[in-house]
This record gives sequence, C-alpha cells and structure tokens, in this order.
Amino acid sequence: MTTTQHRFSSIVYDPIPQSRWPRGYFVDGLKLGFCDDCGFHHVYPYPDDAVLKAFYSQYEMPTAQANLAETARLLAQNASPASTIVDIGCGDGSFLKEMHALGFGNLVGFDTSPGIERAKQLGFGRFFNASVGEFLARAEETGRSEGDAVVMINVLEHVTEPLALLRRLHRALPDDGVLCITVPNDFSPLQRAFLKAKGHEPWFVWLPDHLNYFSFETLSTALKASGFEVVDQSALYPMELFLLQDLDYIADPALGPVAHARRVAFEDNMKAAGMTNTLDHFYRTLAAGGYGRDIMVVARKAGGAG
Ligand SMILES: [Zn+2]
Repeated sequence: MTTTQHRFSSIVYDPIPQSRWPRGYFVDGLKLGFCDDCGFHHVYPYPDDAVLKAFYSQYEMPTAQANLAETARLLAQNASPASTIVDIGCGDGSFLKEMHALGFGNLVGFDTSPGIERAKQLGFGRFFNASVGEFLARAEETGRSEGDAVVMINVLEHVTEPLALLRRLHRALPDDGVLCITVPNDFSPLQRAFLKAKGHEPWFVWLPDHLNYFSFETLSTALKASGFEVVDQSALYPMELFLLQDLDYIADPALGPVAHARRVAFEDNMKAAGMTNTLDHFYRTLAAGGYGRDIMVVARKAGGAG
C-alpha cells in the first residue's frame, strides 16, 4: 500500500485529548487536522491495523434504520435491479434488507463484526465473515470484483488511508461500476456555527472509531482523486439545527431522543402527505449547499484515472 506524506495545513488537536476517546480506550500522541496531501481532515498517525481489527471484532456498530432506508432509495435510483450489490461492512444485513425490499435480488455482504452471524439467517443474499481488505485481495487475485455496485455505509471514516482503499476499489470494479458511500458530514458550516456560538469541543471527534472527517466537498475531491465522479448525492437531516435552536443534546444526552423523534416526525409527515419526492428534493438541495448531518453519494468510475 502506498502511503502519502500527510502534511497538515491546519491542526484541530495535537495531541487529541483523552476526552475525545469516549470508549475509555486511549492512545496518546495522535493529532487531528486538515491534510493537504489527502484533502480532508484525518488523524495522524493512523492507529495500527491490528489494534483496529481487535477493536472491531468486539464492537458492533449501531445501525440506524431510517438512514439505511434513505440510502437504499438513493442507490435504487442509480442502479439496475439486475446488478449485484456488495455491502462492505454490512453489519447484520439491515441495508441489504432494504435493497431486497426494493426488488434487488443479487445481494452480497461482508463484515467481521458479530452481526454477520444474524445476517446469514436473513434467508436471502450471500454473507461472509470477511474484511474489506480480504474482499479486495480476492478481487485482485481473480481480476474481478464480486459486484457491480459496492456500498460502504459509514465505513470510510473508520479506515486507515481511505484514498488507498478508494483506488483499490476503482481497480476492482467493472467499468460501469458504482460506489455508494455514506459518511458523517463533519466540520460542516452548522457544526462550526454551533462550536463558535457555544464554545463546545468538537463533539463529533470520536476516537478510535472516526479516523477521517469528510465534508461534501472533500469527499467529492477524494473520489475524484481515486477515479470516481459523484453522479448523485443527498443528505440526512441536519441535526445541528436542533443544537442551534438550543435543544442541546450534546450537553444533555437525554434530549437526544427528543431531537430524533422530531426529525422522524418531519419525515413521516412529509411521507404521509404523499410528498416523498419533495422530501428527497429538500435533502438534495441541502446536500448541494454542503448541509446535512450525513453525506450520501453515488459515484461512478470516471474512466482511466486511479
Ligand atoms: Zn493525509
């Protein structure tokens, strides 16, 4: 794997304090900043792969059902129902369940977390206890990837050297291959506004889980640098709106479910009104401006680059 220099033009933390390691698992001496070579915020040095592997073999990522349904709808609008969808980091298969409900039949999932055993019981698709590295090694060995569309839901923020991963995916995918990615939208304008107004620490800096911090702009740049172009994008509800309305669920976690319920009510009411298309348009409009708590993008191979 080629590694870049990682020259940082601005520093958020050096070192990242123990308070940003909320799992009681702390490695001293890591910094976080905007890396000019990669074009996005990330930690440095990246934790050792063996350390991360041990962490994730024990820790099951929570899955947010609503986000999965929205991402599935975005991908379904950009992929043929005949295509093979490969979900890397599929957890318990919840996302592929959504794709199955939308009429997609060729479904493959990989994960190394405990949820994979439940995925195998779903009664459709093919599920493997394997990492993204193993998936790519197999694609490189056989000269072709398992699928036409690769999905990585909240994966890219967790991996070391994501540009190297994207370039390997570019080589593994067929020429018309599709990549569907979701990541948190971090250091976003609304987050920065809240940080300035209230003097909080950047609450979304979360170690050792999140090693990379993307915005719509930097994710698009990273995809371009890896030979992909974004063909569609949307956003999830900008939860920071609640913070800026003084429903401060960072200071008082008990308010978290209140904010969540309001966001769900908004979406449910739009859908009940039969205006799901308007809801989609609203989120696409936010995405175009760089707003929204999470980024959802569909990208295609742009050609020979990468
Ligand atoms: Zn870098």
